[in-house]
Amino acid sequence: MSEEIRLEDETDRWRWVCPRGHRTWEPTNNHFWCQSCSRQRGVDGEFSKLRNKATGEVFEREDLRLVTPAGPYPDLWSGREGSA
Ligand SMILES: [Zn+2]
Repeated sequence: MSEEIRLEDETDRWRWVCPRGHRTWEPTNNHFWCQSCSRQRGVDGEFSKLRNKATGEVFEREDLRLVTPAGPYPDLWSGREGSA
């Protein structure tokens, strides 16, 4: 089962936080990146899971479907860096 996140939808974006509880994450090809985490000393701003703020459930990148108005996020970019 996968969860859908509409990247352009503020309600959806605010529902999900990085492992440290920030809402400043951005998707990358194979994982996520958090602006707040990357600013902290000794913290890797990259991670592979997002936490659902409401339920506390943690989802792996592969279990999340990221959707933009133009279509599914990974499909838009997958051609650029070869196969995963
Ligand atoms: Zn963070």
